Amino acid sequence: SRYFTLIDYPEGTPARELFDLRTRELPELGDGEIRVRNTWLSVDPYMRGRMSGVKTYVDPFIAGEPLEGAAVGEVIESRNTRLPAGTRVSHMAGWRDVAQLPGDAVHPLPELDVPDSAFLGVLGMPGMTAWTGLNRIAAMREGDNVLVSAAAGAVGSLAVQLARARGGKGKVVGIAGAPEKLEWLASLGVEPVSYRGKDAGELAADLHKACPEGFDVVYENVGGACLEAALDNLRIGARIAICGLIDSYNATAPAPGPSNLAKLLFNRARMEGFIVTDHWDHYPHFLTTVGPLVAGGEITYRETVEEGLEATPDAFLKLFDGSNTGKMLVKL
Ligand code: NDP
Repeated sequence: SRYFTLIDYPEGTPARELFDLRTRELPELGDGEIRVRNTWLSVDPYMRGRMSGVKTYVDPFIAGEPLEGAAVGEVIESRNTRLPAGTRVSHMAGWRDVAQLPGDAVHPLPELDVPDSAFLGVLGMPGMTAWTGLNRIAAMREGDNVLVSAAAGAVGSLAVQLARARGGKGKVVGIAGAPEKLEWLASLGVEPVSYRGKDAGELAADLHKACPEGFDVVYENVGGACLEAALDNLRIGARIAICGLIDSYNATAPAPGPSNLAKLLFNRARMEGFIVTDHWDHYPHFLTTVGPLVAGGEITYRETVEEGLEATPDAFLKLFDGSNTGKMLVKL
């Protein structure tokens, strides 16, 4: 099996050289175990947190050991009657070509008429995150004006579409970087706003132009100037779901907090962080509600695909310069 490991914990933006591709012989299959040939690997922003050598809400990666992450693949050898060869499964032994796992560490892919890769994106953890943040944390209601940052990413692009679908007369505004992302957002009925080259004040002014009434719901994926600008555009009783703060994941010093937290007070607003895994008991419900919409094409999604195991670190690092539209994936 070929796998990536970290040779040391990065400071700031990880250097490509810290990711080492190694080979090892897999042991004989134990009772109940399976061997999976991975077909798609996911790279996700939260992995940066696991690279800092300290426990956050999840254990850090161990330097020298295989990196982990979501993956889908096909069982090629099995000593588990529930999972015969040929079964397509998802699991967390990514960053490698072949994974060997106990049967209870994998999930057969749900029966839905979508490509397997969708279970790493729109119908996997990122999709579930969008749905959870919007519904269970921000308690979005019909008619709400909704703001989403990193809106053309894996999580954001589902969040804006779910908000559009149930928003009624409410406006949905999406912040993103590249022009093609802004165009995609516009095609989804979202008012796009670029954050590039703007400080918080300039971005706040542009958000005000896009939605002069202000926002009832803020779905925050970025932090920094995006969050500060959002706080300047709240309506009374706004709910802010803190999903991610990618702006600071590679920071080497603590990021300054928003200078305008008073806006939370003035607007009697609420800000709440969440981790999707705490809500996983709702995943079956998410799949039955959102799955058919994706299979039927009413919800669309995009993927940015890098080819070959060797490209996995590059795909991961590209998350931080915005090269991906929709879900960033590696195809093996
Ligand atoms: P994305 O597909 O959104 O990829 C990351 C995107 O973030 C980039 O494409 C880029 O888009 C944008 N970005 C990167 N750096 C910056 C920056 N400094 N300022 C502004 N935008 C930036 O990733 P995901 O959809 O997988 O994740 C989105 C967020 O959700 C992340 O913060 C992630 O940590 C969080 N998350 C949280 C979970 C939870 O349980 N709470 C679970 C899953 C994800 P652009 O071109 O617009 O700059």
